[in-house]
Amino acid sequence: MSNNSSRAILRLEAVSRHYGDAANKIEVLNGADLAVHSGEMVALVAPSGAGKSTLLHLAGLLERPSSGEVFIGEKSCGTMNDDERTKTIRVDIGFIYQFHHLLPEFTALENVTLPQMIAGLTKSEAAERAAQLLEYMHIAQRATHRPSELSGGEQQRVAIARAVANAPKLLLADEPTGNLDPETASYVFEALTRLVRSSGLAALIATHNHQLAAKMDRIVTIKEGKIVPFEG
Ligand code: ADP
Repeated sequence: MSNNSSRAILRLEAVSRHYGDAANKIEVLNGADLAVHSGEMVALVAPSGAGKSTLLHLAGLLERPSSGEVFIGEKSCGTMNDDERTKTIRVDIGFIYQFHHLLPEFTALENVTLPQMIAGLTKSEAAERAAQLLEYMHIAQRATHRPSELSGGEQQRVAIARAVANAPKLLLADEPTGNLDPETASYVFEALTRLVRSSGLAALIATHNHQLAAKMDRIVTIKEGKIVPFEG
């Protein structure tokens, strides 16, 4: 193992993912390799149906590869039992989706507080960190509002704060700005970038927005089941 790969937060080694039976086999990934390091933002740009969601699900341990290995830090996910996998997902990985999926009956602050209480923090510890994160995302002034009282960009900034509430190592995002107008998308993306840079997260972000993709450290795509650099 090289020094470089040993520092990877997320590593896929020769990962394949097939759907269907032998007669109707769909090979979405076929020997795919990828490493994402601490503090690095990698954009995933590929046409619909190319396998972006599949790749994010594999990286987030929500699906298992047909063959190959997924590592989170030094942990090989193939050898984990269900409890270890659930714990790794909860502790090490944060998810952001195109739609915020905030809990509608709770305030912004509570939405960021709850995951930390589930992880074992006291209510006051969790609320203090939640307030700091909302401040960091420039949304503190809306802390006591429920999701329905927030704009799309505000909801998404709360969702980002929630995704990192338990200080994960890896952030996985599926079209995090896909539902926003261009100006709001830029603002939300800037907030996300600030967070990744300051926290040393590794981030893999699927997006159709080429302008935002170009601001990340590198862009990859999926071609013939492999993960390759995106060219133009
Ligand atoms: P993207 O996110 O890039 O649009 P997906 O990862 O959702 O692509 O899908 C990649 C391919 O795998 C598509 O052809 C899709 O139909 C197929 N696929 C995804 N999930 C399943 C499944 N559970 N069963 C069968 N085929 C699937």
